[in-house]
Amino acid sequence: MGLETYQQKRDFTRTPEPKGKLSKTNRRRFVVQEHHASKLHFDFRLEMGGVLKSWSVPKGPSLDPSDKRFAAPTEDHPVEYLKFEGHIPKGNYGAGRHMIWDAGTYELLDGRDPLKQLEAGKLTFKLKGKKLRGGFNLVRMSGREDQWLLIKSRDEYAEPGWRLQLRDETDDKSRAWQESLEQDRTKKAAAQTPEGKVARKRGVRKTSTKGRTGKAVAVGHAFKAKELSGNLDVKVGGHVVALTNLDKLYWPEDGYTKGDLIRYYYDIAKYILPYLKDRPLIMKRYPNGIKGPFFHQHDVNEAPVYVRTETLEVEEGHTVDYIIGDNLPTLLYMANLGAIERHPWHSRVRNLDRPDWFVFDLDPGAGVKFTTICEVAVSTRDLLARVGLDCCAKTSGSRGIHIYVPVKPIYSYEQIAEFAEQVATLVARANPQVATVERALKRRRRGQIYVDHMQNARGKSVVAPYSVRPRAGATVSAPLEWREVERKRITVQDFTIKNMLRRVGAKGDLFKPVLADKQTLNKAMQAVAELFARPASMRARA
Ligand code: MN
Repeated sequence: MGLETYQQKRDFTRTPEPKGKLSKTNRRRFVVQEHHASKLHFDFRLEMGGVLKSWSVPKGPSLDPSDKRFAAPTEDHPVEYLKFEGHIPKGNYGAGRHMIWDAGTYELLDGRDPLKQLEAGKLTFKLKGKKLRGGFNLVRMSGREDQWLLIKSRDEYAEPGWRLQLRDETDDKSRAWQESLEQDRTKKAAAQTPEGKVARKRGVRKTSTKGRTGKAVAVGHAFKAKELSGNLDVKVGGHVVALTNLDKLYWPEDGYTKGDLIRYYYDIAKYILPYLKDRPLIMKRYPNGIKGPFFHQHDVNEAPVYVRTETLEVEEGHTVDYIIGDNLPTLLYMANLGAIERHPWHSRVRNLDRPDWFVFDLDPGAGVKFTTICEVAVSTRDLLARVGLDCCAKTSGSRGIHIYVPVKPIYSYEQIAEFAEQVATLVARANPQVATVERALKRRRRGQIYVDHMQNARGKSVVAPYSVRPRAGATVSAPLEWREVERKRITVQDFTIKNMLRRVGAKGDLFKPVLADKQTLNKAMQAVAELFARPASMRARA
């Protein structure tokens, strides 16, 4: 206990931080500081023993008891630090902005000596702050001196799904921090559940669109305008969809606006909606266009009446209200929220544990020619044909090709995942120079295509056919004729929000078999298992 380490680490002629001294009183105060250091993190400090016991919490505290927040103990800080806010100049320890995120007092919930409890590796306390309230636990991980977890107790102050709001969201560090948190959230929500049953309906607040009709314009008429700008209420069926900031530049280098995005989805609705029907969606929102920050939104708390939502249990006791984005007003509403892509599940709400298609994502490494991706796509098709299965191909809209295999919704995600893995492995074996199923980027060879079969788990998704991508040129995931793939004259960049409508006008919906021709896998599974088990010596001869 002491401030030696704290003081040794700092040059008080160069940092505005307090030098401080051991305090004689203990007023059980706490502070959480938002620290924009080289990596944004939160410092959690509890007053005891004349100092502030401190932990660095990378993701910050949470009011959601299912969040177990990693907390690394740091050196004791002087109690003067409770009030510290300021900018620690470059070159100093902890350089960056430091601000108070929350402060208040705490009470022990167990015993009287916090230091003794810390030593034992478990401290249970009640916080009275402005943001943090109620019971919390700091628990040392077994065998790990330097790793603790900060966990909210399940009490009346707990808020499942709670999200930390930064005090300063504007700098690059805040964006990186938010993105990494969203990635975690996505992983968490995608986690498979044992039963995955649809839970009891929880409330999504549905907001009425009545009383808006006065100034609303019929949607077909509204989108005839060459330039869309400002805010616009459009009538779609019996509903009014409020569209905002239509002239906001979403693709700054191409000049496409949010209005162009919404108009595209309006025009393509007839083609894309069948692929969204009855499927939960994950929204990836780019509120400031493709160059701005994005976040994943699984859960909706509030939505207009026309938006269908379904409450799904994504893990034990944790439910999420997903959007089912299968009607026209919702399609426009989502685009207005900055959801550029459409990411439907592989299964439908009535049969959520049984996917009705599965996907291979041919994802090229650096330097792979698109013609090579086409060759691997054809090879995948041929292998599937050999075991009696048809498939469809589309550009990913990003770099590669997606191959979809439509199936009857009678197989579990686990069965599908295992089958897809075997097929992908056979494709890699047949194209050892250019294809791999090696998940670790480091272990793939340069110029290889990753035959990604890992997107076939419950809660995972691939962009829908006709979905826009947040990429240069406003590319679209475009269904392809196998002829086009064989000829190898196409590229991903050929298909955009500007020309997709013309293409579907000429060719129709090339992806139709994915919805229409649902296949059984029993024979294919057996055939693939046999090919898969064949020893290398026999493979060479085959
Ligand atoms: Mn810090």
